[in-house]
Amino acid sequence: MSYDTNNIFARILRGEIPAHKVFEDEATLAFMDVMPQSEGHTLVIPKVAAENLFDLAPADLGRLIQVTQKVAVAVREAFRPDGLTLMQFNGPEAGQTVFHIHFHIVPRYVGVGLRSHSRQMADNALLADHAQRIRAALGKP
Ligand code: 5GP
Repeated sequence: MSYDTNNIFARILRGEIPAHKVFEDEATLAFMDVMPQSEGHTLVIPKVAAENLFDLAPADLGRLIQVTQKVAVAVREAFRPDGLTLMQFNGPEAGQTVFHIHFHIVPRYVGVGLRSHSRQMADNALLADHAQRIRAALGKP
């Protein structure tokens, strides 16, 4: 499959649809998942067009995982979860639904199961508040 320039994350990168952004640099963007599986579920994407792990140059993957760690530290500070899961899916058979590579940062809370993947939209004001908490933890309110 070739990269679809109209996938939803490409459109977010172009500013065509809104997102609750928490971090951006020249190579990377992080924002709230609109259908979070847990409180604080955040996505990190590269700005280069790459569908999955196999399309990304090692240097770009290096930058992506470094920013993912930085944002994960802020998510941990903002939400104080009991644990934190990183997820990254390659191909529809593996559960990928948006074909622009991304890492999921999913805080985990004891006694709280994960909500279904890509199922239920969160309240917009709640996502805005969560994004603000993460930006504050990053020192970028
Ligand atoms: P994948 O299944 O490809 O690993 O994950 C795609 C993720 O993108 C899902 O967790 C889904 O909730 C999220 N998502 C889908 N559409 C949108 C959108 O328009 N905005 C945001 N912020 N997240 C989205």
